Amino acid sequence: MLYRSVSDFYKEKFGCKVYKISLDAGCTCPTRDGTKGTGGCIFCSQSGSGDFAAERSLPLEKQIEQAKLKVQAKTGKSPGAKFIAYFQNFTNTYGDINRLEALWNKAAEADGIAGVAIATRPDCLEAPVLEAIARLCKKTFVSVELGLQTTNQKSIEYIRRNYETSEYNKAVQKLHAISKEIHVVTHIIFGLPGETEKDMLETVRHSLKAGTDGIKIALLHVLENTDLAEDYRNGKFECLSMEKYFELVAKALSIIPQNIVIHRLTGDGAKKILIAPLWTADKKHVHNELEKYLLKNVKPMI
Ligand code: SF4
Repeated sequence: MLYRSVSDFYKEKFGCKVYKISLDAGCTCPTRDGTKGTGGCIFCSQSGSGDFAAERSLPLEKQIEQAKLKVQAKTGKSPGAKFIAYFQNFTNTYGDINRLEALWNKAAEADGIAGVAIATRPDCLEAPVLEAIARLCKKTFVSVELGLQTTNQKSIEYIRRNYETSEYNKAVQKLHAISKEIHVVTHIIFGLPGETEKDMLETVRHSLKAGTDGIKIALLHVLENTDLAEDYRNGKFECLSMEKYFELVAKALSIIPQNIVIHRLTGDGAKKILIAPLWTADKKHVHNELEKYLLKNVKPMI
């Protein structure tokens, strides 16, 4: 085994194939609503990094139904498969916590749902939010996804992340303190302008040291209607080539222990708004080539 993939992790945990379905809880972010800024993170799309999520105007039951049909159409019918209700867009612990908790509970109780995944920011985990997540953990499997992206200070400022890295460390601890079962995932971006290999691997090391249970590595995508697109078009940086990205992923995997769950190794930019790197548009090809490359180049850590 080169690495512990999320599908293997779900199979171990639930004994069946599990798919994530992306839902929209109707949230915003403190970096968008004026609390910590208005433009959002520099790379983030208009949909709050949830370009594949269900339609936000629909009630949650409908979103779940629609998202399940989408997965089934894409993968073919998978009898006995279960789903993780993934609150993906924007910051899903930011807003009226009673409303959010009601949505999480509704999702957890829906037919075929094996657990709930909540994407959020480390600075949006106040006590009432943690209490609500702790209650949810008693009902179902819960995964909380934290957008760390990088630990390089220059990059943090450039992407307008607007929280200190120490906040991320504390968030991982706080989440583990509320439940032994909780699964904390860290989102990291490779290829941020000006970052070196050392910077990217340092971010991976940092998340491991902080105690993350899972890692999601995404390649920086330049998407339409973002400030990052303007910098890209003005020639301020170049995107990573496929070869360089594969090399970085292989190096990252060689420092990630086998107990850590790998949730993703490629980016997931929607084709219709993707500006660069265009080699990522053919996801199947990238996935196959990456697997081949990793088989040849990764010596797994025990
Ligand atoms: S916090 Fe997340 S969803 Fe919000 S602007 Fe930043 S990347 Fe986008």
